[in-house]
Amino acid sequence: MHVVVLGAGLLGVTTAYYLAREGHKVTVLDRQPEPARETSFANAGLLTPGHAYAWASPRAPMILLKSLWRADTALRWRLKPDPRMWAWGLKFLANCSAARNRFNTVVKVRLCLYSLAETAQVTAETGIAWDRSQSGAIYLYRDAEHFRAGRENFKLLADEGVEARILDADEIAAFEPSLAAVKGRFAGAIHTPQDESGDARKFTVALAEACRARGVELRLGSAIGRMLREGDRVTGVETAEVRVTGDAYVLALGSYSPLVGKSVGVSMPIYPVKGYSLTFPIADTEAAPAHFGVDEANLVAFARLGDRLRLTATADFAGYDTEYAPQDFTHMMRVAMELFPRAAAYDRPSYWACLRPMTPDGPPIIGASPLKNLWLNTGHGHIGWTMACGSSRLLADLMAGRKPEIDPAPFRLGRY
Ligand SMILES: Cc1cc2nc3c(=O)[nH]c(=O)nc-3n(C[C@H](O)[C@H](O)[C@H](O)COP(=O)(O)OP(=O)(O)OC[C@H]3O[C@@H](n4cnc5c(N)ncnc54)[C@H](O)[C@@H]3O)c2cc1C
Repeated sequence: MHVVVLGAGLLGVTTAYYLAREGHKVTVLDRQPEPARETSFANAGLLTPGHAYAWASPRAPMILLKSLWRADTALRWRLKPDPRMWAWGLKFLANCSAARNRFNTVVKVRLCLYSLAETAQVTAETGIAWDRSQSGAIYLYRDAEHFRAGRENFKLLADEGVEARILDADEIAAFEPSLAAVKGRFAGAIHTPQDESGDARKFTVALAEACRARGVELRLGSAIGRMLREGDRVTGVETAEVRVTGDAYVLALGSYSPLVGKSVGVSMPIYPVKGYSLTFPIADTEAAPAHFGVDEANLVAFARLGDRLRLTATADFAGYDTEYAPQDFTHMMRVAMELFPRAAAYDRPSYWACLRPMTPDGPPIIGASPLKNLWLNTGHGHIGWTMACGSSRLLADLMAGRKPEIDPAPFRLGRY
């Protein structure tokens, strides 16, 4: 079978890998000149079942409401006359009950754990390098009540097999010596030894090369205008220059999947949520964090990726705008300089902003579409690096008509 994969981000490239491994002929299309130039380019780098919580929660509506009149919140909702945003928002609110939050979190963490094992398998099979760290993440809490709530919430993940160690301030300093000078600011931390980190872009680019070596054709640098349809089948994909045809098609365009899906009448509730990332060269190895994690009070993630320090933060509901200005990074910069003052060359920042493809409930959309030969692997939101390999393995199993190793039902488009 010839499969055309739309998108060369984490999800498109991992899809191509699993399909090529099955012996299919695969063509990957992307508008960028190389893989992973959009959301998969400079994310936080955390492979983290320990942070698999669904964003739609009983606390979320109040946080979003407050963000309407405060500019400094980590979650920022901007009112726009955009019907897709409002339709998405209503579905998000419907998922904010404690019961829905628990259900969606469990679905996500199961996929994350499965995916971590698949990522290790793909890495072993291909020998690709991606600045991988397997030291486990550290989730830092500054306030005792927040720490208590964090431990309480964690029970849900622990029940699903996520391991954790609770650290007090002295244990934080012993585990992560770069934080010793500021240990007094923390009420405690949760260390999750299974979590990993690494450079999602390096992974995607290297895996794309491994795909090429297996005969996958990468047709990059040309934007997809639309898909073509006859009856209940897709008959081709049109880029500015050519029409590409195959036997089956996989939509993996991240935040842009609904825009291209619409051309063949397939709609999906994915909305872009902008995030920002900041990368510095490491200046002092001893002062840089050896581990990766999240400052939970500020919702700033940090990871050392080889000789760089990466920080990410902020969820901006601002439509398809990917612009950024230096002031968007002030909050992250302040946290970085507070926690790791001598770690990095803070005068040499690389700025980046990109769009998380968020579903309103949290789990991605993986599997069949209403059209017979169109498949979906999209909507991975804030945790698509963690879920990529597991999602693509699940999709390859479904396309082959095999029973997947995890339950595919919670990922169906039909759940909406
Ligand atoms: C700030 C931030 C931090 C994050 N941190 C983490 C983390 O620590 N851990 C984690 O697990 N996840 C993290 N994520 C989430 C993760 O990065 C995403 O879920 C993941 O990258 C999504 O991959 P994707 O392949 O679906 O989308 P993308 O990487 O955006 O790929 C989609 C591809 O489609 C192409 N495309 C789109 N439209 C067209 C068109 N019309 N024609 C042709 N090509 C097109 C794009 O060029 C792109 O290459 C983070 C995200 C952000 C924004």
